[in-house]
Order: sequence, then C-alpha cells, then structure tokens
Amino acid sequence: MTSPLSTATAQPEILTGPALWPAQAHVPSVLGRQIVIDRGDGSFVTTVDGQRLYDGTAGLWHANVGHAHPALAQAAFEQMNRLEQYHVFARFANDKALALAERLADIAPIDDPKVIFGSGGSDAIDVACKLARRHWQREGRPEKTIIVSREHAYHGLHAFGTSIAGLPFNREGLGTESLVPETALVSADDPELLARQIAEIGPERIAAIVTEPIQGTGGMNPPAPGYLEAISTICRENDILLIVDEVITGFGRTGTMFASERYGLEPDLVTFAKGVTSGYLPLGGVFVHPRIWQPFYVDSPDTPVLRFGSTYAGHATAAAVALRHLDLLDEERLLPRVVELEALLRDELDTLAARRPGVAEVRVAGFLGGVQLVPEIANDRVTDALVDLGYITRPLRGNTLQISPPFVTSDDEVRAFVRAIDEVVASEE
Ligand code: PLP
Repeated sequence: MTSPLSTATAQPEILTGPALWPAQAHVPSVLGRQIVIDRGDGSFVTTVDGQRLYDGTAGLWHANVGHAHPALAQAAFEQMNRLEQYHVFARFANDKALALAERLADIAPIDDPKVIFGSGGSDAIDVACKLARRHWQREGRPEKTIIVSREHAYHGLHAFGTSIAGLPFNREGLGTESLVPETALVSADDPELLARQIAEIGPERIAAIVTEPIQGTGGMNPPAPGYLEAISTICRENDILLIVDEVITGFGRTGTMFASERYGLEPDLVTFAKGVTSGYLPLGGVFVHPRIWQPFYVDSPDTPVLRFGSTYAGHATAAAVALRHLDLLDEERLLPRVVELEALLRDELDTLAARRPGVAEVRVAGFLGGVQLVPEIANDRVTDALVDLGYITRPLRGNTLQISPPFVTSDDEVRAFVRAIDEVVASEE
C-alpha cells in the first residue's frame, strides 16, 4: 500500500541520455529521437543509421555551397599544416586574416569599411551593439545608449542578442527583462507604428536600430513594403546608427552578395557569419563604416580604444577556408544560380499554396522560403513527417516551415522537396 506521504513526495523521473545537451530544445521531447548526422555530400546528409536526407534548410541556413566540399577540406588541411591560428591582438595578425579582411572590404555593402572578426553571428551582434554605444559616448552624446530591434527578431544568444530578441522566449527565466539594459522593441512591419514608437522611446536616446533584412528565425518574413525605407529615414534624420544583421542573408542568399544591396540599405554596421565560410569553420564579423572607425584611427595619444576580440578572432584556418569559399562562389557561379533558384522556388511554392488548403501563405525572398500552415496543422508534426520521407525542414515561429536548401541543389531536388511538403500537408488536411 502506498502511504499518502510517499505519493506526495513522488517526483517525475529524471531522464538520462547522451552527454550532449541539445540546444534550443525542450529536452524530454527530443531525447531518444535525435537525428544524428554522420556525413554529407552536396545538398544531402546521411544519418548514422544510413538514412540519406535532403538538407532543405542548409543546416541552420549555413551550408550554402553544400556539404563536404573537397576544395574547402583541402584549404583547411593546407592551412593547418602551415599555421593553424595566430591571434590578431595588438601588433599581431596572421596573413590569412589580413587577406580575408581586404577581400571582404571589396565586396562589403559599405565603402571602405574596417572588418572586425569573431567566431559567429552572436558575437558579431555583441560587438556591433557595443561599438554603437561606444561611438555615441565618444561623440560626446553618452545618453544615446538604447538599442532598438524589431518584434520577432533573432540576433543570436549572446548577451546583446538575448536582450534585443523579438522572440521573448529567448529571455525566459533570466531574472530580468533584458540582460543588457536599455533596449527596446518596435513593430516588425508597420512603418507608421514604427515612427510613433521611435518618437515615444525618444530618438535622442537611441544609439542604433538593428534589423535583419529578411527575418529568418522569426518566421521567414521579407520586409513589408516601405518598412526598411522607413527605418533608413528614421536613422538618417535622428543620428541613429543602422545595424544590418546579414548573418543569414550575407554571401549570396538573396542573389546579391548582401541583401543590403537588394534593398538599397546604407548601413553603418553590418554583421555577418554563416555564409562567409558556408559554416565550414566558425567565423563571423562586423563591417564598420568609415564614420565609425576613423575616430579610432586618429594619430593622437588621446585616440580611444575599442575593446573587442577573442582568441579565435581572425582564426587563420577559418580565414583560409573563407578565402577559398569566396572563390567557389565565383567558380561555381552560385549567385546567378540563386537568382534562378528564387524564381523556381517562388513558382513551386505559389503552386503549392494554390493547391493545398492547409497552406495559409508562402513567402519567398532570395533562395529563402517560408511555408505558413493553417493553425490546425502543426508545423513540427509536418517537419517530423518530412524527415520520415527523407527531407529536412525546420519549424519557425508563426507555424511556418523553413525552406533554404544549399545553392548547389538541382531544380529537380527543389521540385521533389516541394512535392514532399505537398504530400505531407495533404495527409494532415
Ligand atoms: N543573427 C541572425 C539573423 C541569425 O539568424 C543568427 C543565427 O541564426 C545569429 C545572428 C546568430 O548567429 P550564430 O548562431 O552564428 O551565433
């Protein structure tokens, strides 16, 4: 017989599992169901159990040139045999970091930029936000500290990214509204509301507005008409820096090297990561406009210092791979290919939306697509069923599926992917 006391103290079972703590997951729901990838080839990956899966998301929007490209393996091998890494602190640098910065400066969506390197998108955002505050402090306007971002925004999970996230669950349980003080959220798509909100916050207090050109994790949302223009005007008229987060869109995802070109943006700071190496090695960074960097380069003992950098900033092997990767984008003509893929994806998804009542809306900008399902059909169930059929997609906010295959995919693969989505959605209708 169970005593009342033992019933009262019964505790839920603690699950065990692999030592690896799964990122961004409700752990009990994923334990025992992990999809463990063992190898990749082009647009496909294969699990340890031998299931070959079409990588319809390019991992986390990173594997643009496809998986296991021998040219990048070779570049890493050669560099590691020569010099794995040397830091870029103070007087030191390594030749690959210097060469990569020059090469990036030529293609950046800012003329004559300086390039700050880090290890990924989250630390690029941290540096960009710190630099924005530092800029206004140095300009004698220390009251300009607020970093404004958009609802549904995702800017990584370091301290600034967590604090400016427009996805509130990323701040859950941290003991405070925002890890970093003085941040504010504005409407993601309404230019008039945006203008009113900026007026309420007080433009004289705002250091920078941060925006993804196309919101990714927040649901694959291309900019609403007039919205990015409104942000640009507000920034220009109120001495507010414009930080464009091109972590997803940079390096060709929208058919131009950067989405800033596609949308006519003139940023002060641009963050990049993922596509700079197609994720072959962790690398990210920030392009800095001359009006921001020049004061730090003045020949005077009073010139301020920007405190940034990490052991792996400007990592020599990551830089060597990035240099080779930039060649590949040209050699394999991948940017023009993205333009073709955008048109194909738009046709395919429009047809899907017209055929399937379970599809509420489709959105395409560049080779980035979102399939929003009606509320009765859960996107995570569809994602699971697609894996069973051999296709990887990913549930995003707003009951949306992420569509962003590698640039090296074929037309037939894209068509087969959309057919598979059609089949699964039909079975859920
Ligand atoms: N910014 C954007 C727009 C992103 O989509 C991401 C990651 O998905 C990040 C920043 C963070 O990049 P990372 O995961 O490399 O830290």
